[in-house]
Amino acid sequence: MLQLKQRFRFSSDPNIIVAQYGALKRQVPLLYFLLVVNASAVAYTHRAFAPAYLTLGFMVVMFAICMWRAMAWIYAKDAHEIGVREIHRQLVRTTVLAGVLGVVFLVWSLTLEQYGGPNERGHVALFIAATVIGCIFCLVHLPQAAMAVVLVVTVPYLIYYVLRGDPVYTAIAFNIALVTGTMIQVLLNSFATFTDMIRSKSELITKQSEAERLGAENARLAQTDVLTGLPNRRYFFSQFEEALQTAKAAHRQIAVGVFDLDRFKPINDTYGHVMGDRLLCEVGRRLASTVNRGTIVARLGGDEFGLLFTTDIETAHARGQFLCDLLSEPFVIEGQTVMLGCSAGMAIYPEAGETVHELFDRSDYALYHVKTDSRGGCTLFSLEHETRIRSERAVETALQRADLERELHVRYQPIVCTQTGKVFALEALGRWTSPTIGSVPPDRFITIAERLGLIHAITLTLFRKALTEFATLPDTLGLSFNLSAHDIASPETLDRLIEVIEQSRVDPKRLTFELTETALMRDFDAAVRGICMLRALGTRLALDDFGTGYSSLGYLRRLPLDKVKVDRSFIKDMDELSGRNILFGILGLCQTLELDCIIEGVESESQLRSLVAMGYRQAQGYFFSEPLPIHEIEAAFEASPQPSFAALAHVSRMRAA
Ligand code: C2E
Ligand code: CA
Ligand code: CA
Repeated sequence: MLQLKQRFRFSSDPNIIVAQYGALKRQVPLLYFLLVVNASAVAYTHRAFAPAYLTLGFMVVMFAICMWRAMAWIYAKDAHEIGVREIHRQLVRTTVLAGVLGVVFLVWSLTLEQYGGPNERGHVALFIAATVIGCIFCLVHLPQAAMAVVLVVTVPYLIYYVLRGDPVYTAIAFNIALVTGTMIQVLLNSFATFTDMIRSKSELITKQSEAERLGAENARLAQTDVLTGLPNRRYFFSQFEEALQTAKAAHRQIAVGVFDLDRFKPINDTYGHVMGDRLLCEVGRRLASTVNRGTIVARLGGDEFGLLFTTDIETAHARGQFLCDLLSEPFVIEGQTVMLGCSAGMAIYPEAGETVHELFDRSDYALYHVKTDSRGGCTLFSLEHETRIRSERAVETALQRADLERELHVRYQPIVCTQTGKVFALEALGRWTSPTIGSVPPDRFITIAERLGLIHAITLTLFRKALTEFATLPDTLGLSFNLSAHDIASPETLDRLIEVIEQSRVDPKRLTFELTETALMRDFDAAVRGICMLRALGTRLALDDFGTGYSSLGYLRRLPLDKVKVDRSFIKDMDELSGRNILFGILGLCQTLELDCIIEGVESESQLRSLVAMGYRQAQGYFFSEPLPIHEIEAAFEASPQPSFAALAHVSRMRAA
């Protein structure tokens, strides 16, 4: 009994209920069709024997009811429109109705059985058997209803014939009971398979949608910058490609901007990376909060952000400048106020280029120039940049083809003691004379070589040449050599430099390597490691062009330095009190930190006099001598073992004449 009750229970799995409903929608109309046709046939064969209300009358009523139900199923709403609860109710209703109709048809057919001869009676028995079997088939997806039909039809049918004591019909009734019982078992088995299939299908769908969700999440993460939550470089470039195609099709202009924070590195180094990260998040938030829809802001990496929007030239520049100004407003993080700055380079399609690569490179180029020329503003890529690029290309090509050994040479500029006027060291300065484009100033070819990855070969060639030439000069003399940012961060270059020193006959203590602040800042930790390696050998380190970069006191304290070279730009401001105060201040700072202080760019006697009065003891500049070729330096040293700057100035002037 309990088992039977169990069998009549509906599944609680909504997926199964929905699937049952879907199958029944297709099959129940067939069932009514079968019922009406079979019953009509019985009514027809009994028309002459039974009263009309039992044949025609009954059939008209049943036809109407069955058609109404069949139509109701054919036009029933879809599962998602009515919801699981309503479907459940519908299944219960269908089961009850199946039972009720079963009873009605059974009573009707057994009543008809009273009329007619053996053929008609046989027809009734066949009608009941065939219809029950048909019903079971049509109700395969609702076993409760199939079982209800079997219970209300087959069982009373069997009892009826047994009680009537007719052996043939009793045998038929037993046969039918056996067949329908077996069929119910088969139906239950097949329903179990059906529910298993639905369950595994819905599990599969769940797994699939989970996989899709994970896939979408991965795709989103792959396009997002983890720190700021902004789109990342990859997303930026894919959107750039799309936007460019759209702009081309619509004949519209679009702007790409690269925004690079000024002073971020020293702040990051001074306050720590946590603070640096917070600052980057704030910058991202500030940028994202001001842009309108259709503009893309992305973090391209480090302290670099990218912007993409549809615009014309005037608006692009104004927007870029607005954002730079916005990022120059103070940031308050954990109660600390920090001031950044921002420089931006922009390129506009179609003026600056046709491809993503070209446009991005050009905005980067404009950024590079705004960084070096006028920090803190936005610059659009212009015709002037285009001309510069062309000439740079010529230099690039010549440099790539250069025979470094033959085309590079070194000039030496004396560094002089202001007290005695004696030369105590030389600064080696690289020179390149190309057979195709002539002589190119070092700051230009060095930058290009850095970009082309040729700097290591150039540094090593110049250093080897400088040490070979320098070896012939007196032991008391020192030699300064400039290293690029890339050199100090490259362990291979450092190893090779050390090898060159070891192979030369020059005592490492006589050597000083000069590094600019910008070189240190590119990769501070790598630079410190490089400096330590070189110092371990006994060489000294000088901070070059002091005052032009960030001039962070933090660097002076944290780095194992020996000397500071004050940039020649300070000499220009010497006529003013504030300029003199700065020079005085820098000297005081160096003395406090026990660092040698060399002033560069001394061009006149009056400048020298003021500097000496301030206390500067070491100086360099055209006033003493311009950079000279080795044989002229040798000549001066041959004339006097300790030549004074006057002797060199003489050589220098002779050359100029
Ligand atoms: P720097 O290291 O500051 O070198 C001093 C520069 O100032 C030299 O320019 C020198 O000729 C110039 N100079 C010296 N005295 C005076 C003066 O009284 N007035 C003026 N106006 N200028 C003066 P140079 O040789 O053109 O070198 C420019 C820069 O190129 C150097 O600046 C240095 O940063 C870089 N450089 C030169 N040679 C090398 C090298 O071999 N390797 C590397 N990595 N960089 C080099
Ligand atoms: Ca230098
Ligand atoms: Ca310098």
